[in-house]
Amino acid sequence: MNNKTVSAKRAFELMEKLGYERVSCTEEEKRAAEELKQEAASFGLDCTIEEFEVEAGAVKKAVFKVVEPYEQEYEITGFIRSASTPENGVDLDFVYAENALEANLVGVEGKAILINGRFTLDAYERIQKAKPAAIITFSGTLIDELDKTDLDIRKIREIYTERHGENVLVNMRAFDALDIVKRGAKKVHIELVSEQQTGISRNVCGEIRGTEYPDEIVSFGAHFDSVYFSTGVYDNMSGSVIIMELARYFMANPPKRTLKFNWYGSEEQGLLGSKAYVKAHEEELKNHRLMINVDVAAPILGKELIFTMGTEQLKHYADTMMKELGRAAVVEDDTYSSDSIPFADNGVPAINFCRFGAPGTAFIHDRYDNLKYGYMSAEALDITLQNALEFSKRVINAPVFPIERKISDSMKEKVDKYLCKKKD
Ligand SMILES: [Zn+2]
Repeated sequence: MNNKTVSAKRAFELMEKLGYERVSCTEEEKRAAEELKQEAASFGLDCTIEEFEVEAGAVKKAVFKVVEPYEQEYEITGFIRSASTPENGVDLDFVYAENALEANLVGVEGKAILINGRFTLDAYERIQKAKPAAIITFSGTLIDELDKTDLDIRKIREIYTERHGENVLVNMRAFDALDIVKRGAKKVHIELVSEQQTGISRNVCGEIRGTEYPDEIVSFGAHFDSVYFSTGVYDNMSGSVIIMELARYFMANPPKRTLKFNWYGSEEQGLLGSKAYVKAHEEELKNHRLMINVDVAAPILGKELIFTMGTEQLKHYADTMMKELGRAAVVEDDTYSSDSIPFADNGVPAINFCRFGAPGTAFIHDRYDNLKYGYMSAEALDITLQNALEFSKRVINAPVFPIERKISDSMKEKVDKYLCKKKD
């Protein structure tokens, strides 16, 4: 393999350098965008930073107490973009509403309801129709240790509030949720001060012009933001540094087709960076033939997965190519919750390269997504890097573009479902 221009070791070092919390719209997300731009410039790829607006906010105060039949305060976090309570808080009757089925929601108007885990858009619709005054979710497990885990900070997405209105939304730990239900909480006090504002997030975008078919575009994508408490090295600085190496390769080996390299911000908030990109580049998108996304790589104990989003032809093509190369990867024709979705939604086939840690050996979306736990390596990162490189080289430099620009009806349906599109 002609892969001397790429180096998993260098990629891993860049991942270490950028291994700090990079939450949507924060200074750190901005700093990471600038550092990615600088890295690309170091080998001659000029990138622009494309800003976009994000409905965001901050919770300034969040208090939760059971006041009847016993008194106790519990740790909570308020959802970003939640409604606020009145200034001194509210005392509300408390109901455990399980999974928020209709029967769970009879008579909850004006009360605080606790529901299991997360809620779907459908569940939120049912809940809002029942008009509770506050919604409590929980996260984590009963065996969490306080000093070893963080209470999730959640956000209520725009699609929820636009369709079904706002509410007071808080999150608590699973063992506290068990405690209050077990002890028969009847009345609770909630104080929540939530400020809503528009934040600025950004994508880092570069282009390498094709030498033979400049009007045919293949884009590479990887998100570089993280969630709270997470340094997001596994999810997804690993993918970001992999496409950086691919950019380096194609700078040194000019491609026949035009390439776009996009590092997306705010993926963790609902694929906002890639959604902003497809919107801002609507005209250009007609020339996009394929999107190649890398999201999670590098766990030492892991397996390679490839998710194709196009037609069965793309799946078989990728599967056959990996077999021909003797490279182990499970190839599936399925949606993957990442920046490839907005492309497929706009008719651009996509392929996702990823490496999942074996169960219990790699962590995302919490403080354990951190290099200090030692479950990632440059050698493991190199496997995904080489898979993506080998696939990309062949596709991008093929005399005839080998992938049809088509999304199958079944894939369209899956993407629509993922994006909660209305079925009317
Ligand atoms: Zn991710």
